[in-house]
Amino acid sequence: MGLAMSLERRNISLLGSTGSIGQSTLDVVSRHPDHYRVHALSAYSRVDKLFEQCQRFKPRIAVLGTEQAADQMRRKCLDAVLDIRIEHGSDALDAIAADPVADTVVAAIVGAAGLLSTLSAARAGKRILLANKEALVMSGQLLMCAAKEANALIMPVDSEHNAIFQSLPATKTGVSTEGVVKIVLTASGGPLRQCTLEELAVVTPQQALKHPNWSMGPKISIDSATLMNKGLEVIEACQLFSLKADNIEVVVHPESIIHSMVSYEDGSTIAQMGRPDMRTPIAHALAWPARIDSGVAPLNFFEVSGLHFEKPDTDRFPLLRLAFEAQRTGGTAPAVLNAANEVAVDAFLNESVAFLQLSEVVEQTLSRSKISPASDLGTIIEADRQAREITRELIAAGSR
Ligand code: NAD
Ligand code: MG
Repeated sequence: MGLAMSLERRNISLLGSTGSIGQSTLDVVSRHPDHYRVHALSAYSRVDKLFEQCQRFKPRIAVLGTEQAADQMRRKCLDAVLDIRIEHGSDALDAIAADPVADTVVAAIVGAAGLLSTLSAARAGKRILLANKEALVMSGQLLMCAAKEANALIMPVDSEHNAIFQSLPATKTGVSTEGVVKIVLTASGGPLRQCTLEELAVVTPQQALKHPNWSMGPKISIDSATLMNKGLEVIEACQLFSLKADNIEVVVHPESIIHSMVSYEDGSTIAQMGRPDMRTPIAHALAWPARIDSGVAPLNFFEVSGLHFEKPDTDRFPLLRLAFEAQRTGGTAPAVLNAANEVAVDAFLNESVAFLQLSEVVEQTLSRSKISPASDLGTIIEADRQAREITRELIAAGSR
């Protein structure tokens, strides 16, 4: 319907292409070969998957996490006569994030590992499709300031934040929050929403990984089961839209049809709805202010069984409360919360801590950490490092 005419051609650096968001992004991109070109791809260690993507999308550069993976990739490309520059390590990631040929960077690495490359894209003034919420949680102010100074555009890919973006009035350079009284962040409640504390005590990683509505990477799946994902998203929303934690209300909405809402002074509430498929927010963030086909069909309301809403239970899921508290404390508290959680989630997936201990070790790490103003990157990285050390010690002490 005519809108596609206003689409700009874009060159994309996709960081974390082998992950769940990375693959969904390539699916959307593949539907619009005349508008989107993949300039660079990156993955940590899944050489086979990255090679397959390189054969299909023919990027100029591919970056791996380790030298060994890069060597393996080089051999494969040589055999297949694929002319791609292969690099590895975090400097190479920063370089593809800031590469002058790419105007768009998809930040889809999981965890703190994505921080520096996201910052590098912000400093280089890119359109950033931000999935890597941990980067924003750790260093929200730095990242938002860097983006502002360099005229970078941060487009939220996280479905809730993308929904909020879509429900706010657009300006030439983004959105405005004038007249907003609150943001309603919806949460599916995850796979363990109805478990009692006794049941939660014996939950296995396999049970916690089984999200009812979304298919995602392992770290965010566990975060969804503990409600930490919603906690990180509260902080993410505060940073993205310059809000206070008190302006945000979390509502459990098990159907995941409404992806979030914005309430205004005049009593209006605007919601964004759609199927739970990340290709919708990815397509929106890629094409904004235009709209493109994402491969996702619009909702069929006759198939929707109902829309339900519940209060989140922070007695069973205390990480949501801890995230609100960390945001209110400010400074390096969100970075400490995030680092402790990353270590704890890894330990849970390796079966070295139990489900209910996840929040305990995060809470203890927060109370043992010195919180400072998050004024520079060095301070944030040091807070992250120290928090990881404390959490590892707590977990080791608990398992003795
Ligand atoms: P995933 O685990 O499926 O993929 C992670 C990607 O990051 C992979 O390509 C991996 O190779 C790369 N990676 C991992 N560790 C790395 C390291 N140390 N250095 C460089 N690259 C590394 O994760 P995902 O589910 O796609 O999530 C990615 C990000 O998007 C997360 O921050 C997550 O919170 C966010 N997010 C995901 C979804 C979703 O539906 N999956 C939704 C909203 C937000
Ligand atoms: Mg989300």
